[in-house]
Amino acid sequence: MQPDDFAPGTVWLVGAGPGDPDLLTMKAVRLIQRADIVFYDALVGDGVLALVPPLTEAVGVGKRSGRHSKDQRTIDAMLVEAAAAGKRVVRLKGGDPSLFGRSAEEMAALRAAGIPVHICPGITAAIAAAASARISLSLRDVARDVRFVTAHSRRGAALDIDWAALASPGTTLAFYMGRDAAFEIARGLIGAGLSPATPVQIACNISLPDEKILATRLDLLGLATRAFAADAPALILIGEAVAPVTGTEAHAMVQTSALHG
Ligand code: SAH
Repeated sequence: MQPDDFAPGTVWLVGAGPGDPDLLTMKAVRLIQRADIVFYDALVGDGVLALVPPLTEAVGVGKRSGRHSKDQRTIDAMLVEAAAAGKRVVRLKGGDPSLFGRSAEEMAALRAAGIPVHICPGITAAIAAAASARISLSLRDVARDVRFVTAHSRRGAALDIDWAALASPGTTLAFYMGRDAAFEIARGLIGAGLSPATPVQIACNISLPDEKILATRLDLLGLATRAFAADAPALILIGEAVAPVTGTEAHAMVQTSALHG
């Protein structure tokens, strides 16, 4: 299905990437230009929203943990209503729609209402973080397994994660929504046998002008995240493969040594 066939009354779930509009796919840009209405999440960057034509309706349905401005059912209903009114609907989601984006709920609601829905993929935060940190998530003879993990939990509840299943030295872990759970992640993985010295990269505001990346180690993850990530969305990469490449990552090394005091 191509943007030229964007029929009235249909919905496209569109990956908006990590924030930098240059990281949108060309298909995403064409869909945004053809839409009658665009619903967007809190994590969709301002530069991406600037591509929405001035006469196109843009509706923020932003959700941030603890600050839900619209619940999922309301969003589902808004999408259904706009499409049923004959609009070409773009639902812009940070990163890729298929990862921790609740796209399945939205697709189910749209299908139940008989509304055609399509997906345009986007660059997910873990992939963008690897690019910004100039590392490879998989690494020959080191990491042959890459996991995308959500560390979101209901407020106050412990994480429901099988640490033993994740704590393998040959695995690269990408934790989404892990900022508030950083201490728990480190405790869980070290408790399950992962070395305290396992390399970690904490990436905040990936691809945006205020992007920052800190290379550290697993036993310092909690403190480092608290000091470094504060209120920004953060993606946490863990594993032997994510060690900074020595000699080329001067800034990351400096930041690490600064943190160590
Ligand atoms: N569908 C999105 C993920 C949504 S969950 C994707 O594919 O990227 C939201 C989490 O994604 C955030 O808590 C954070 O962990 C991560 N994230 C998304 N954009 C980010 C960015 N620009 N910088 C850092 N982390 C980001």
